[in-house]
Amino acid sequence: MSKAILEERKDQVHRTGHGNPVEIACNKESLAGAVSQRACVFCGSRVVLYPIADALHLVHGPIGCAVYTWDIRGALSSGPELHRLSFSTDLQELDVVFGGEEKLTAALDELIDRHKPKAAFVYSTCIVGIIGDDLEAVCKEMSLKKKIPVLPVMSEGFKGNKRAGYLAACKAMFQLVGTQDISDVPKLSVNILGDFNLAGEIWIIRKYFERMGITVVANITGDGRVEDIGRCHGASLNLVQCSGATLDLAKMIQETYGTPFIRVSYIGIEDMADSLYQISDFFKEIDPTIVEKTETLVREELSTLMPEIARYRKDLEGKKVAMYVGGSFKAFSLIKAFRHLGMKVVVCGSQTGTKEDYNELAEIADPDTILVDDANPLELAEFIKEKNVDLFVGGVKERPIAYKLGVGFCDHNHERKEALGGFEGMLNFAKEVHSSVMSPVWNFVPRRANRNKGVNKETGNV
Ligand code: SF4
Repeated sequence: MSKAILEERKDQVHRTGHGNPVEIACNKESLAGAVSQRACVFCGSRVVLYPIADALHLVHGPIGCAVYTWDIRGALSSGPELHRLSFSTDLQELDVVFGGEEKLTAALDELIDRHKPKAAFVYSTCIVGIIGDDLEAVCKEMSLKKKIPVLPVMSEGFKGNKRAGYLAACKAMFQLVGTQDISDVPKLSVNILGDFNLAGEIWIIRKYFERMGITVVANITGDGRVEDIGRCHGASLNLVQCSGATLDLAKMIQETYGTPFIRVSYIGIEDMADSLYQISDFFKEIDPTIVEKTETLVREELSTLMPEIARYRKDLEGKKVAMYVGGSFKAFSLIKAFRHLGMKVVVCGSQTGTKEDYNELAEIADPDTILVDDANPLELAEFIKEKNVDLFVGGVKERPIAYKLGVGFCDHNHERKEALGGFEGMLNFAKEVHSSVMSPVWNFVPRRANRNKGVNKETGNV
């Protein structure tokens, strides 16, 4: 195995095929010093909660933690945009010595009066966990004083990985559920969980549901509203996309209110269509016409999409892809989406994949695909060179790796500016992949130019 992989991490890399069973270590703490691509617990909770656009989001900690702002994780809102403002208590040395509760109380007092939010989320960071500020007590007192929910998010950065942050966010959000009247919620209704409305994707999906006659009660994690979350327990079905982030919330709602959930994906062609069919199947007893409406929708969308896909496929046939994603559920859909473009995924990694995820990935991936859990930049660079890929799919932290190695890049993370969900999003995806992979600029990268001249085809090294 490559020297880029540390001895202690070797069991977190797996090559598919050759009859070898999937034995991959995952769902564990990152190796100290390995420079993981993962984000911290606080970041995980912020990702899930900040798209609630009419809430105040206050980061209790040093100013550096508040770097995860709207600007790098751009969930769009169709109304209020309070979530775009980033607030921090900016803890300093003296606060660390004497405690930051007073500062937090003053900040909440001022911000709630100034911005009149429907609720406030207060995020705990590493240092707050260390000095032991009583976040819960401050929030409770402020909630009584201001008469809005002020919710502590117990997301101290060091207490686990991003997954622990998702759980902290779900626990905070669940306190809002059940606080509003549901008497006007119709039977044909759903909640959207785990879509972050990046570049307006939820609006594309909502239009499909409208055509199927389904009401969306709450877009919980994208273009979200506090009152909608308060009445989301009235919906008949929860649709969970990014399962790592919101499955816990769906389970809490199911346990308390009996609302079932299904896992869906709005990425790619089969998974988008399959999700719509699963939903129509769920509601067909209530409204038998929904099946035909769904079939017509899918047929109409595909009749415009497929000829376009065929056009891009001509150039992209045979190109190779490496991808590194947050939760591996998205990877399943992306592998299928790339097959429609004639492209082959040869490296696939995730920050927070579970054993079940990797087993499923190994089943749908081609033989000799590298699966990697909780990778670091050195490993990713090594795999990209070994497999001589044409495109790297990732987020803001992966982009520089791709460009330094001279390969195309597609942002499929929270920083994307192009809607990649739904059938419409699949076309945008094809366009973006095509323009990056086919850019003539890569011919000027020595490593890749030499590939064409026959210099070490396996590693691509000069
Ligand atoms: S919470 Fe901790 S790990 Fe996360 S950004 Fe702040 S200091 Fe860093």
